[in-house]
Amino acid sequence: MSTQQNPQLVRESVAEFAASVWSPSPATSRPRITYEEVVWALSEIEASPRATITRGGESVRGEPIWKVEVEPPDGAPEATTFVVGGIHAMEHAGVAAALSLLRRASAPTTPWRRHRLVAIPLANPDGFRQVEADLAAGRVRFRRHNARGVDLNRNFPVGYRRVDGAWRPLSRLQSSGAGPLSEPEAQAVDAALASCTPDYAVSLHAFGNWIFLPYTGKRQRPAGYSELVRIARGMADRQPGGGYRIAQVGRLAPVIAARGSELDHMYDTYGARAFLLEIGSGPRPFRPKSWLSPYAWFNAEEPQFHSDVERAVAAVEHLAEGA
Ligand SMILES: [Zn+2]
Repeated sequence: MSTQQNPQLVRESVAEFAASVWSPSPATSRPRITYEEVVWALSEIEASPRATITRGGESVRGEPIWKVEVEPPDGAPEATTFVVGGIHAMEHAGVAAALSLLRRASAPTTPWRRHRLVAIPLANPDGFRQVEADLAAGRVRFRRHNARGVDLNRNFPVGYRRVDGAWRPLSRLQSSGAGPLSEPEAQAVDAALASCTPDYAVSLHAFGNWIFLPYTGKRQRPAGYSELVRIARGMADRQPGGGYRIAQVGRLAPVIAARGSELDHMYDTYGARAFLLEIGSGPRPFRPKSWLSPYAWFNAEEPQFHSDVERAVAAVEHLAEGA
């Protein structure tokens, strides 16, 4: 699966891995959260007696894709919620939100009293690291894909369609890979879903302040649509600073319909009540400087970044209350 062998793969735990991870020292700017900080956050979460961290797979370039499971403190779990972050390379707000959810779930005063939380907080580590390297080197780039140039948000089986026009810019943007689950990162997400059969599932993206409901790839309403809307409204009602808008992507506009998304896969293949959150409001109208930095579209500057992340965390924690 991987052409470059990563020597870290022989290592056992995230704590051991953390000791050898480094982030480039920036010449110009650093991401809101570095790869090093992601791995250290995981090793802190692993210290909780209720948390287990295992290798859920490895990326094209051989980086570990960590799967975290946090058991509830109050006896056998009544439900399982699955969370995935960092499908798209630049959307670090989703990774930060997934880690914040895990930190809070594994703390003694967890809101997840009777729910198991399972997460892949960083599904696309190669893309994440590439963005970090771009920022450190002062390169202004838009990045979305994995190391093979595939949009993982188009690589799942439900509604999958082969898009591979390497010579056409728009097709390249939505490159869906050689076939459904052709990419190791999508395989890791699928394997985690299969292992936990979630009642609820959330994918964390940026930006737009939306809660998206299935389907992303077609106009048809999902069978459980009214229940999904009810839960999404509960999520939005908990959000400090106002709730996200709620919509079905597949009905918004044909041009943004997304075939082969993880959202439709989580809903149709695994039967989870599934949601996709778009964190943050995107480019600021009165901050023209940020217009020129794609990274800033997806990840607001501090302290806004932190409050954007907390707003998403509040929405997902609605599920802990037995939505
Ligand atoms: Zn995204």
